[in-house]
Amino acid sequence: MRPAPRLPIIAYHSIDEFGTSISVSPGDFRRQMHWFAQRGWRTLALSEAARLVLAGAGIPARSFVLTFDDGLPSLLTCAAPILAEHGFTATTFVVTRLVGRPPDWYRMPGPYRSTPLLDRAGLERLASMGWELHPHTHDHPVLPHLPLAVQADQIGRSRSLVQEWFGQSGTVLAYPFGQLNEDTTRAMKQCGMEAGLTLTFGTVLRADDPYNWPRVGSAWFKHSDLRQRLAVTGWLEKYIALRGLVKKGRERHFTTPTAETTRGLA
Ligand SMILES: [Zn+2]
Repeated sequence: MRPAPRLPIIAYHSIDEFGTSISVSPGDFRRQMHWFAQRGWRTLALSEAARLVLAGAGIPARSFVLTFDDGLPSLLTCAAPILAEHGFTATTFVVTRLVGRPPDWYRMPGPYRSTPLLDRAGLERLASMGWELHPHTHDHPVLPHLPLAVQADQIGRSRSLVQEWFGQSGTVLAYPFGQLNEDTTRAMKQCGMEAGLTLTFGTVLRADDPYNWPRVGSAWFKHSDLRQRLAVTGWLEKYIALRGLVKKGRERHFTTPTAETTRGLA
């Protein structure tokens, strides 16, 4: 089979009926996984995918990676059973200080802030079902707001605990809020991390900077099979890039009032 040039790493948070910006309902999630299974797609473990991409080895066709940030309780109650039905596995990123405690950085309304994240036993149950556990920092800070040494501490401490608690390599980090700066990349290298995942939309190409890998946010295809196909095959990002080019071309010809200039006039 010809190696696929692009690897979709899909970013989910929670599988639930709360209808928030980070929710995908169990019904939609089951339909999305069924879509992959019907077409012969297979999940790759995140560490294996990183190894293949970094070695320039090429990725088996119709491979994808499933990721869930934060370790919310619905992973065990909703996501894992649906994945098991299809023989799929996934990764969750663990905020090590808040294991078994409520996610204190959540600002959105709804039940998340008062509900504890999965504790060590819950995360171990996911691992026993084939899930990988990788770090998501110790406190879930906005990394670019912190000096290099503190960023390295956040990343290194989180990775060490993932290794110690679960015996997993923990070599891929999802940046909290998807954010990084140049110091983050330095800190990642200092901590021996292999790759870092953002929330920028896109699929991973072999040549991409491993500390700045994009992901396909599940919000892009919540209710549409067509959008799911376009997102995971790379067509949606080609379309977005093309629209960006068209917009740039237009801006060269027309001066549109920006928010700043309009405010200046008011
Ligand atoms: Zn997060």
